[in-house]
Amino acid sequence: MTRPLIVAIDGPAAAGKGTLARRLAAELGLPYLDTGLLYRAVGRRVLDREGDPKDAAMAEAEARALHPADLDRADLRSAEAAMAASGVAAVPGVRAALLAFQRSFGQARGAVLDGRDIGTVVFPEAPVKFFVTASPEARARRRWLEQQAGGGTATLAEVEADVRRRDDQDAHRSVAPMLPAADAMLLDTTALDADAAFAAALAQLRARLG
Ligand code: C5P
Repeated sequence: MTRPLIVAIDGPAAAGKGTLARRLAAELGLPYLDTGLLYRAVGRRVLDREGDPKDAAMAEAEARALHPADLDRADLRSAEAAMAASGVAAVPGVRAALLAFQRSFGQARGAVLDGRDIGTVVFPEAPVKFFVTASPEARARRRWLEQQAGGGTATLAEVEADVRRRDDQDAHRSVAPMLPAADAMLLDTTALDADAAFAAALAQLRARLG
């Protein structure tokens, strides 16, 4: 019996991982999991308790108490939730608590998952791995345009500072830092729109799977 296909997509904030992952999942007929949402939901739960996302005991307790309904909250996409996510994501007990859920999601029928450590920790044996990146300026600009469209008032400079701070925190934490797996295919989307990124990824994926 062949194993269900896992496609692991990692990379920094606003590199285009989510859009690419969704499109690949639709193309391949696979379920999609945005793993960042799990960390955002844990971060939100800590903020609800007026706690510090870096408080390891509280963050781990909230990760263990995570409920599927937490993932449907409307306030997970804010800059505040993103920074709280990055805080709780550095806590080893939080990562351990979320690992089993991510693995069982993928093992059932295969999946496309995006995050920071999918190809390195969650599914190191995945046959298809992408590390999607883009210049910090391009990523900040995309995030800023999204926020503007949603009525956000942060300046481009503020959004860029947030993106850089979060990348720095994610890349330098001691547990599961964001980094490309040795066998990941690199995709730089600085000069690519969503259609071009999808076409390039699909060609790489087909070449990898033969
Ligand atoms: O992908 P997204 O921007 O929603 O992720 C929010 C935060 O969650 C990231 O900045 C990172 O700290 C954390 N994260 C992680 N590992 C993942 C997915 C997200 O550490 N697999």
